[in-house]
Amino acid sequence: MPFVNGKEMLEHAYRNGYGVGAFSAHNAETIQAILEAAEEEQSPIMIQVGQKVIQNIGLEPMKVLIDSLAKNYTIPIAIHLDHSRQFEQTMEAVQCGFQSVMFDGSALSFEENTAITRKVVETSRALNIGSEGEIGKIGGTEDDITVDEKDALITTVEEAVAFILATDVDYLAVSIGTAHGIYKETPKLRFERLEEISNAVKRPIVLHGGSDVPDEQVQKAISLGVSKINVDTELRQAFTQGVQEAFQQDMNNIVVADTLGAGRAVMKKKVKEKIRVFGSANKAEKLLNDKKVVTL
Ligand SMILES: [Zn+2]
Repeated sequence: MPFVNGKEMLEHAYRNGYGVGAFSAHNAETIQAILEAAEEEQSPIMIQVGQKVIQNIGLEPMKVLIDSLAKNYTIPIAIHLDHSRQFEQTMEAVQCGFQSVMFDGSALSFEENTAITRKVVETSRALNIGSEGEIGKIGGTEDDITVDEKDALITTVEEAVAFILATDVDYLAVSIGTAHGIYKETPKLRFERLEEISNAVKRPIVLHGGSDVPDEQVQKAISLGVSKINVDTELRQAFTQGVQEAFQQDMNNIVVADTLGAGRAVMKKKVKEKIRVFGSANKAEKLLNDKKVVTL
């Protein structure tokens, strides 16, 4: 189980023009679905531990569970903390040995966001852990600045540059037209803005809300500097569909291993599909080899 610093993983993707899927895990079966899919595709992956599963199972139990289930796999893996809004929780993940952490201060003022993110970056870097920060603009009025609806969720080049100068975060989550959850209409990514931000910050960009974004748009985003694509909603849909189908076949099936196993099988297919779209299939060995060259 080669666990790899998230920064090294994403910089490899960034330099080699592919994207790494950051897939959210919710229980043992979803962890297995991600691991099995990645192994079969020989792809590096990030396994995301998000706020919901932390409430449900706990941060440390999830880390221990992933470590244990990952034991016999050969692909590069980074365990990532998703959308932490508390410095203390981010540090708990660092202490537990996550390979990557995200502090999300996008709801705070620019000053507070950068101050805490900077602390996260310094601590993580000293311990060889990758760090993600977020800068974006939420619609409506904040302080005395009103954001035009059309520009509501779009990160500006200026704020992205200022954020990087203040924090030096390893990879940056920006708003370029995606959203979390299920889309009402097909999203249209703002490629021009992405390109401008990418050229200005010169480091891996993270695309949140990667579910249901058309494949061609995701691939174009990767070609413009997106190296980490977060996928959660589509995986939960796939898992739930598998479980529902198992119950449709036999609604009295009380063998939990069967019903959750059916969810795992459908989700695994979806993860494999995403890995191929992101171009990370068969990159596992190259990443591990290149890493050796760099570290030796
Ligand atoms: Zn997100």
